[in-house]
Amino acid sequence: MEEKKEDKFILLKNLYEEWKDCTRCDLHKSRTRVVPGDGNPYSLLVFVGEAPGEEEDRQGKPFVGRAGQLLNRLIEEVLGMKREDVYITNVCKCRPPQNRKPTPIEMRACFPYLKKEIEIIQPKVICCLGATAGEGILGKSLRITKVRGQVFPYPYNPRIKVFLTYHPAYVLRNPKEETTIIKDFEKLKELLTQE
Ligand code: SF4
Repeated sequence: MEEKKEDKFILLKNLYEEWKDCTRCDLHKSRTRVVPGDGNPYSLLVFVGEAPGEEEDRQGKPFVGRAGQLLNRLIEEVLGMKREDVYITNVCKCRPPQNRKPTPIEMRACFPYLKKEIEIIQPKVICCLGATAGEGILGKSLRITKVRGQVFPYPYNPRIKVFLTYHPAYVLRNPKEETTIIKDFEKLKELLTQE
């Protein structure tokens, strides 16, 4: 039977309903709200970041601050797509206090949400933005300077490719790395068109 267009939207909405009052980790104490993934669940491409920041916590959407603006620009100018064409989410769905990195305990507590999102979307490529996202998806610690630009199989479905690059916030702090992230996005574009 042909899958209905709205099915994945409904599955993701139901998933959010299950998690919107979540208290599985300490991040619930300081958040304003759980920030779910956003975008097109029928996309071949899912971006994964670390956790919501101040603006994301306020608006309830991932990547809406300055880092999000850079991500939008890369999506448009390098991939030739629109933000609405892709799906964007985070390893942890609640903002850590002072924007600190989520702890391994918090990442493990929240991972079932992300795992389920990926199960629903079944993308071709997961693009991890920064080391924390890569650690959350691959389940091992890594140094982003060593592994960026590389492709790994997604541990729960090896047909899905995991690609790693810098977090846009890191590039904003280190503008000389903009050429590197552009090169990575060019490679990401190739991955999306490969068989
Ligand atoms: S970060 Fe994830 S596991 Fe922790 S409280 Fe928020 S939704 Fe729950």
